[in-house]
Amino acid sequence: MREKIVAGNWKMNMNREDGLSLVSEIQKGLQRETKADVKVIVAPPYPFLGVIDSSNQVKLSAQNCHQEESGAYTGEVATSMLKSFGCDYCIVGHSERRQYFGETDRYINHKIELLLKYGVKPIYCCGELLEERESGKHFEVVETQIQSALQGFKKEELLNLVVAYEPVWAIGTGKTASPEQAQEMHAFIREKLAQVMGEDAERVSILYGGSVKPNNANELFSQKDIDGGLIGGASLNATDFLAIIDSF
Ligand code: PEP
Repeated sequence: MREKIVAGNWKMNMNREDGLSLVSEIQKGLQRETKADVKVIVAPPYPFLGVIDSSNQVKLSAQNCHQEESGAYTGEVATSMLKSFGCDYCIVGHSERRQYFGETDRYINHKIELLLKYGVKPIYCCGELLEERESGKHFEVVETQIQSALQGFKKEELLNLVVAYEPVWAIGTGKTASPEQAQEMHAFIREKLAQVMGEDAERVSILYGGSVKPNNANELFSQKDIDGGLIGGASLNATDFLAIIDSF
């Protein structure tokens, strides 16, 4: 049985009051109707990690971490710090980090290594650009991302990983991958994981991300290899986020 997960990536949004009231609305919504079998995660910006408690209902994730363990890296945050502030998860390899901050799979590989060392579960993002899909290279691109980021880990370690397939052309564009396109890629990702992990690949949750909204979540989440979503825009509104959680 795989875990069903809905994770909200706030990106660089929300000031203190708005962010705290968003979390409390989500918590209240979940209390009204317990969704015991869906793991709910919020990934707020760093300053919130010290003021939101990771609870049974809503787990806490960072949006990034640094690829070195500690030291003279002004402005950066280490994985051990995330753990000490109660973070259970950390997003790595988001396309915005790759695009605007030059993150490569080699760095992402180091980040995953440190996250696993400190007991924080990586949410590893992969996905192709529009031109890569249009030229039929999407499987090749995702395969290379997965192979280089996940290189060197043992299969037991990879059981702590969550994968998020996020086609870059679908992020924040309102253009969602069709359930068939997403399922096809999720099955492919699972097949690649199985080459390293064998049948344990069936235990890894693979989330879809890219313009998931309350009106398309159910169809996406009904696909065999789609185990939930990484939600950007729609996670900033408690009603929409709760409706997406409800879509299972
Ligand atoms: C994301 O930020 O990872 C994302 C999928 O954003 P959105 O849901 O807004 O497309």
